[in-house]
Amino acid sequence: SEHHQTEQGEASSLRTPIVAVLGHVDHGKTSLLDQIRGSAVSEGEAGAITQHIGSTAVPLDVISGIAGDLVDPDDFDLPGLLFIDTPGHHSFSTLRSRGGALADIAILVVDVNDGFQPQTHEAVDILKRTSTPFVVAANKIDTVPGWNPEEGRPSKLAIEAQSDRVQSDLNENLYEIIGQLSDEDFSADMYWRVQNFQSNIGVVPVSAETGEGIPDLLTVLMGLSQRYMKEEMAIDVDGPAAGTVLEVTDTQGFGATIDAVIYDGTIREDDQIVVGGQAGPIVTDVRALLQPRPLSEIRSDDEFEKVDEVVAAQGVKVAAPDLDDAMAGAPVRVVRDRPIEEVVAEVKAELEDIQVSTEEEGVTVKADTLGSLEALASTLEEAEIPIMSAEVGDVAPRDVRMAETADTEKHQAILGFNVDVLDDARELAEQESVRLFEHDVIYRLIEQYEEHVEEIERAQQEQVLENITRPARFKILDDHTFRQSDPAVVGVEIRGGLLRRNTRIVNFDGDEPERVGQLKSIQDEGEDVDEARTGERVAVSIDGPTVGRQIKEGDELWVEIPEKHAKILEQELGDDISADEREVLSMYLDKHRNRDPFWGK
Ligand code: GDP
Repeated sequence: SEHHQTEQGEASSLRTPIVAVLGHVDHGKTSLLDQIRGSAVSEGEAGAITQHIGSTAVPLDVISGIAGDLVDPDDFDLPGLLFIDTPGHHSFSTLRSRGGALADIAILVVDVNDGFQPQTHEAVDILKRTSTPFVVAANKIDTVPGWNPEEGRPSKLAIEAQSDRVQSDLNENLYEIIGQLSDEDFSADMYWRVQNFQSNIGVVPVSAETGEGIPDLLTVLMGLSQRYMKEEMAIDVDGPAAGTVLEVTDTQGFGATIDAVIYDGTIREDDQIVVGGQAGPIVTDVRALLQPRPLSEIRSDDEFEKVDEVVAAQGVKVAAPDLDDAMAGAPVRVVRDRPIEEVVAEVKAELEDIQVSTEEEGVTVKADTLGSLEALASTLEEAEIPIMSAEVGDVAPRDVRMAETADTEKHQAILGFNVDVLDDARELAEQESVRLFEHDVIYRLIEQYEEHVEEIERAQQEQVLENITRPARFKILDDHTFRQSDPAVVGVEIRGGLLRRNTRIVNFDGDEPERVGQLKSIQDEGEDVDEARTGERVAVSIDGPTVGRQIKEGDELWVEIPEKHAKILEQELGDDISADEREVLSMYLDKHRNRDPFWGK
């Protein structure tokens, strides 16, 4: 983009690529980041890695120290790698830059024993959608039974040093993962066999526990960025900074501050900035730029130190007035020599770009950041769940009021992703029968909601089935007339279907179905019951007929099904009634259709 083009003479330089870590819960994302930080700390002299706000910078010389023979620093001119400290696709989707992902490159962590899991698929979907290059860290190789560990060894060497048995067990799992990548339309292979990382995904076996494979992983990341992304890493160091809000935080002595990642240019302590807020762009002046004080220097309540400027790519805490309303995931721009309206318009355009499209009828959605709101909305869209309202922030009473206006019960629901529910909102929801769903994993949240919808639909179906006349035919047994009339009481055997009380009874003796009366009650061995099924013998009382006249022993009788009910049963509820009821229904329909082929259609 034009931002990255630098004229001759301008201070142009290459920034560190930004690396994000994604993967299923418990597959080792946090451990992997800790291991990378740990290896870097033990490698370099103190201060070689820099802990920024929300991110860790690992310089090239530290990487080449860890990677040993694998990396020759002379082959690289990118200054190192910047790892985002919060792993997971939630943070990945939150951190955006100019409509794309903020992370330039990603590590997809997959437990070598577990293979792909739901959140692995979700992560892959997000990486695909944002066209983010990635490598797969096949983690926990040290857990293969019989594994012989040696701290920090490159994994290619580590694997070669294992027994044949261990190698073949590990390979089996690795090929499983390669197969799962191929199911996702990625051609993948062990990283040492990949020639072109642009068209193939490299799989790097690692252990976040023993550090085995970390040298290889860092080498592949460096190589991938150097080879394919060098141009995108060119920034104008003196230019006004562009960044993304990672989190809105309260910082002692400063009030509301933002933790941001700067991915272009420089931000200085005297800059005017524009930040995306709930109600639109916020224009404000930087009061202080803060970085964590090195651990050794922390005195009580003096966790941060002021810095004069921050150059991309880095994390930084920015203190400025009016930031309460800032949103995680929103853009941050330094104004510097540009007209303020231009910068405001740019921020506004980016905010609009992230808005979620809504419909007249649907669920109400809340999420903690714009990026997560967008990710949730896109997953809801895939699940064909319409959205009526989508906003960033905790669930408040007005969200309940909004959800309440939905027309259908299933849409009177609020899906909250990674947000809190305010107490009065919870009370109001209870009162107004608005259902609240909360989770910090998107697919779980949607799963819970879908279960709820299924429950509603089942209940509705049951309600329909309860109110609809069910097919049944039965035979009056010989020598089982208990009462002649008013009402007639006879013993019957159900020949098919479900016989219920309070239904009209017909026979098909003539051309036309002939109504014989109303079935009032059913008795099974002297007890009143509501219904009887195929094969059962019960006594029934029928209002209307006299035994020996309108009905007689040996007669076959049918429940009269109103035409409308017959139609619903045949066309909509076929799957909800038993095979035996379906059979009776079809016989019943045949009897009518002999006379009128369109009956019940
Ligand atoms: P996350 O949820 O993806 O961040 O996973 P964590 O990093 O919290 O790891 C989950 C569990 O797996 C923890 O108990 C880790 O100690 C363990 N773990 C992670 N990586 C490895 C590994 O490479 N080897 C072994 N043996 N355990 C690991």
